[in-house]
Amino acid sequence: MSPIPPLLSVIVPCFNEEEVIEHTHARLSAALRAITPDHEIIYVDDGSRDRTAELLGRLQAGSPVVRVLRLARNFGHQIAVSAGLDYAGGHAVVLIDADLQDPPEVIGDMVAKWREGFHVVYGQRTDRPGETRFKLATARAFYRLINRLSEVPIPLDTGDFRLMDRAVVDALKRMREKHRLLRAMTSWVGFQQAAVPYKRAERFAGDSKYPLRKMLALALDGIVSFSAVPLKIVTTVGFAFSAVALLGIFYAVGLRLFTDNWVPGWTLIFIAVMLIGGLQFIFLGVMGEYIGRIYSEAKDRPLFLVMEELGFDGRREEAGRSRPTVVSAVE
Ligand code: UDP
Ligand code: MG
Repeated sequence: MSPIPPLLSVIVPCFNEEEVIEHTHARLSAALRAITPDHEIIYVDDGSRDRTAELLGRLQAGSPVVRVLRLARNFGHQIAVSAGLDYAGGHAVVLIDADLQDPPEVIGDMVAKWREGFHVVYGQRTDRPGETRFKLATARAFYRLINRLSEVPIPLDTGDFRLMDRAVVDALKRMREKHRLLRAMTSWVGFQQAAVPYKRAERFAGDSKYPLRKMLALALDGIVSFSAVPLKIVTTVGFAFSAVALLGIFYAVGLRLFTDNWVPGWTLIFIAVMLIGGLQFIFLGVMGEYIGRIYSEAKDRPLFLVMEELGFDGRREEAGRSRPTVVSAVE
């Protein structure tokens, strides 16, 4: 456990959040001031194409605890948060969305739990108004599936709203995989974990930046990055089908050699060919998912590129943070 007085870092990823960001900042800073004066807020502008960058610049100019990281383009939510983690100096670090769906006041409960000695305190949603039934159903199915397949269980109904101790943040910083599902990675890390229940609110303004396409990609990352079960299923089914195919061959050869009755039966062959052909394509696809990930890891590109940093000067060497240089490639 880190000694008191702690510095609390809060990371807020922002992608086209001009409609909410000022409101979010007001509510977040009020909540944080009530917890500890010793905090910093790191807004990560994930390549927004609206006025988000400008608004963040203004917030930063108006407050010594606000820092802004501008990524060189849209790298995606998980990477934006990872960038924030690299720059956060706090003894405890909180991840929170920019749209006020995660109430900032809950951070107080999280800090209390952290002071009790827990290293990871994740928010667990008890209620999710304003989400479509479809989103709720798919999210639920996703957690069930991933917990079935993966070696590391992910707690149900959690998002990325969580507090992490410095020890956990340092561990995460050593995990540089490109396909990231932070909530699964924080489970993998271990340490002492606790949940804080909260009611997830509706998005304050603006639209979700997570269309179905991105959600599916995230789900796939969660499964493929944390489980080799799909590969095992492929092998097992492959063997089973080969065995059936072998029987079929004996049968066909028997017919051909010992009877006159060998022209009929093409239907069966046709179906078998189709079936096995189809399965092979599916299996190639599964292999491809893994090989694609090996490929992107092998390229070993930086996770993100920073275009601009605002407000980090005062805290350069804080808390053993390994700090990249300006406009840097962070490995
Ligand atoms: N976000 C981001 N980059 C992206 C997409 C989203 O930084 O490419 C941020 C977004 O600004 C918000 C958080 O990630 O702070 C969660 O996004 P959103 O609220 O749109 O997702 P939802 O709550 O609908 O799942
Ligand atoms: Mg949201």
